[in-house]
Amino acid sequence: MSEQKRIAKELDQRVAERTRELAEANEALKKELVAERQRTEAARRASDQDSRVIVGSMPGLVAILTPAGGVDAVNDELVEYFGRTLEELQQWGTSDTVHPDDLTHVIQIFTKAIASGEPYDFEVRLRRFDGAYRWFQDRGLPRRDASGAILRWYVLHTDIDERKRTEDALRHSEASLRAIVETTPECVHVIAGDGTLLSVNAAGAAMAGASSVDLMLGRNFYDFVTPEDRERYRAFNVSVCAGQKGLLEFHIVRMDGERRHLETRAAPLRNDDGTVAQLGVARDITARKEAEARLRESERHLRQLTETIPVMLWSATPEGAIDYCNARFLEYTGFDAEQLMGSGGFTKILHPDDLDQTVQEWLSCIRTGASFRVEVRKFHAADATYRWCMANARPLLDEHGRILKWYGTVVDMHDWRQAQEELRQTQEKLAYMMRVTTMGELTASIAHEVNQPLSGIMTNAGTCLRMLAADPPDLAGASETARRTIRDANRASEVIVRLRALFSGKELTTESMDLNEATREVIALSMSELHRHRVMLRPELADDLPLVTANRVQLQQVILNLLRNASDAMVGVDDGPRQLLIRTERDEGDRVRLTVQDVGVGLEPHVIDKLFQAFYTTKSSGMGIGLSVSRSIIEKHGGRLWGEPNDGPGATFAFSIPRVPERTTGAALVMRNS
Ligand code: ADP
Repeated sequence: MSEQKRIAKELDQRVAERTRELAEANEALKKELVAERQRTEAARRASDQDSRVIVGSMPGLVAILTPAGGVDAVNDELVEYFGRTLEELQQWGTSDTVHPDDLTHVIQIFTKAIASGEPYDFEVRLRRFDGAYRWFQDRGLPRRDASGAILRWYVLHTDIDERKRTEDALRHSEASLRAIVETTPECVHVIAGDGTLLSVNAAGAAMAGASSVDLMLGRNFYDFVTPEDRERYRAFNVSVCAGQKGLLEFHIVRMDGERRHLETRAAPLRNDDGTVAQLGVARDITARKEAEARLRESERHLRQLTETIPVMLWSATPEGAIDYCNARFLEYTGFDAEQLMGSGGFTKILHPDDLDQTVQEWLSCIRTGASFRVEVRKFHAADATYRWCMANARPLLDEHGRILKWYGTVVDMHDWRQAQEELRQTQEKLAYMMRVTTMGELTASIAHEVNQPLSGIMTNAGTCLRMLAADPPDLAGASETARRTIRDANRASEVIVRLRALFSGKELTTESMDLNEATREVIALSMSELHRHRVMLRPELADDLPLVTANRVQLQQVILNLLRNASDAMVGVDDGPRQLLIRTERDEGDRVRLTVQDVGVGLEPHVIDKLFQAFYTTKSSGMGIGLSVSRSIIEKHGGRLWGEPNDGPGATFAFSIPRVPERTTGAALVMRNS
């Protein structure tokens, strides 16, 4: 063999050997690989088995997913929670296992995680077997092999419902707290110990005149406080930051330069970093302070007024105890406030004779709430006498009508009362004068009135004598004529009595009287005078006229005056009869009316008011006081006297008086002569 052939043969042998070796090695490797795979698979199976065992016994909801996201296995707890089978759970993406509001979000995160292989973590509401949704935290972790390929996803659902709800409640309460702070009209602020404004609400910013909260934060609040209050405020802030609660009134100057009065209520607030700040609520009390100042001013003004007014003022408790007398009151009575205060204090200053009645009246007013009004004599220190005063008081009532307080005045009316008395006496004298004058003018009438019974007496006495002188004496006739004599004498005496009354200067008291009878008497007295003036008198006296309580002489004076005026007014009437009508009648409201109507000169409307003024007369010999006195007499009887022109010729004058004069209202105590 050639060398070449040998080499070629050797090469072939080597190749064949090598190839065999390779094939053997290959076969061995193959076996090795298969064995390896079998070992790995067994390990994985063992591991899966382990995982399932672990998962099954874990205290939580656990699921194992395939790399594609399909549900591979779940633990018992999870099945119990959902109350669904593994197949049903596979469909979680389309069933109601996940709360509808969370589903889209969950699918999005889940899909992304499966695609990227990144772990996921989200919060989701999951449906429990009974339909209730509870919050869970879902965390998914991929488990990979050595090559990095995902083998399984391990998913843990942790029930966080409790925490979620607590967080929600906390968030809610924080939000409402913030809303309260933001909507409160008061300034809520947090100020650090050095005065730095750490926090403030919108109302606080507005209070300081800032357009936004940001403009305020970080500034030093001390700069807003007015210089005169700054030190006080600083001390207050320091004390609050040292743990003291407090209240402070102070002034600030707002950003727009306006000065405001604030009141801060503050408490210490511990910050997270351990420092303490002032948590304060500030109110703008400028308006209140101004109102208080105005009130103080008006109180001062009122006090000045009550202390300087020249009227005695007083007040009393609802029970009637005096609790205030002004300076004028004390000066007038010479007592000091303590002596007059309390119930019964005022009795010290009353005239002993007025005491009982005043106290009775006061007690009755306190009981009924009626206004108090008495005329009473009070002690006057300056001349140590009692002077007539008018005391008035009215109750101040609450909305239920309960008495809160009595307010009263006392007015010295002594001089006025004396003047009134003098006026009354003058009027009385005037009336008397007028009466006497009128009576003087009626002498003829009066003489006739007296003469009539007197001549009757004369005639009867003569007849009586004749009858006695007859033979035999006519005793029966004589005694009859003697009786007539006595009757006439009585009549004469009655006339004299009435005349004496009319001439008397004394006012007679009121009595129950018949106005018709009084009128007839006046007519009788005036009759011959009227005849002389050719007056035709027509009396129309009502039959059913009730009695009146009045002063007879005064009313007769008025009637006399009206008759005389009517007669005077007709002096110039020559073309017809001088008719004079005198009428009495019942009037509305339990009154009686007397009317005198003539056909004389009549009245011009513009003079009607003047007629009743004193000294107004159109007569050459008139005094002009008749109507003025008559009116005051009628008014004293609670009545009214008036005059008016007739439709035809002449005038009508009339008065109307109540049957019984009303009791003077209001004044429980009438004035008595001192
Ligand atoms: P005198 O009678 O003294 O004038 P009076 O006060 O009685 O005073 O009357 C005042 C005036 O009223 C009379 O002057 C008269 O002008 C007017 N007067 C009174 N009564 C009548 C009357 N009946 N008709 C017209 N005028 C009258």
